[in-house]
Amino acid sequence: MAVAALLAGCGLAENLQVDLVVERLVKNRLVKNRLESGAVGPRQRQTAIRNLFSEVGCSVEEQRIEKSSGNVICTLPGETSSTIVVGGHFDFADLGKGIVDDWSGASLLPSLYQALKNRPHQHTYVFVAFAGEERGLVGSSRYVKNLTTEQTALIRAFVNLECLGLSPVKVWVHRSTPDLVARLSEVARAIEITLQGVNVDKVGDDDTHPFLSAHIPVISIHSITQDTLGILHSVRDRVDAIHFADYYTAYKLIACYLVYLDVKTE
Ligand SMILES: [Zn+2]
Repeated sequence: MAVAALLAGCGLAENLQVDLVVERLVKNRLVKNRLESGAVGPRQRQTAIRNLFSEVGCSVEEQRIEKSSGNVICTLPGETSSTIVVGGHFDFADLGKGIVDDWSGASLLPSLYQALKNRPHQHTYVFVAFAGEERGLVGSSRYVKNLTTEQTALIRAFVNLECLGLSPVKVWVHRSTPDLVARLSEVARAIEITLQGVNVDKVGDDDTHPFLSAHIPVISIHSITQDTLGILHSVRDRVDAIHFADYYTAYKLIACYLVYLDVKTE
């Protein structure tokens, strides 16, 4: 089936809902400010993400992981308890400022919340800024471990945002659930955004791992290529490593994707 027909079939195109999503996107300047607000020390990052969520009117819940750190969680209730979890990690490796890895993902969560909050939706969206990714996926592992069997069964998708804005959007196909990749490429084609598959199996892991181990469908969205891989965990991981146009395009794509998942998923 052609993409246009598929989108029309689910009501996205015919009601111009893509336009509505785009209309509700947070403006470039604010998205950029949020990205820049991560240029703080590692200990201030949890407060920084908490503040961003408060700024957009989402009351956060903190799930303590260790003495001084924990996952920061913002929930946007839907009409049902079927859930879509969207994550990024706020901690970072010692070198650089950790803006690419992964403030680019974490700081996008409040802007996604804003784009979705005034739109009717079936699913409950849970936005999680994870702690301790760099120390062995500590925050995401704890998050998944603390879910009850019922809560786990209600999660229809885990969408992980890891290192955005180095290049146009990429998806880690080997790691991701095929259905979720198919949905993302449908949206990308419909709104004319180039999406490439780049597998990073050999170079690392990410917060999708514990979700996948719990049999939750996952997708890992990033922007890493062979050429930009060296920026991660180096002094070059700063705001100026981000191509803002690519980053903002990723925001648009992910916002539309979250709407599409809501419509297309039971
Ligand atoms: Zn990372």
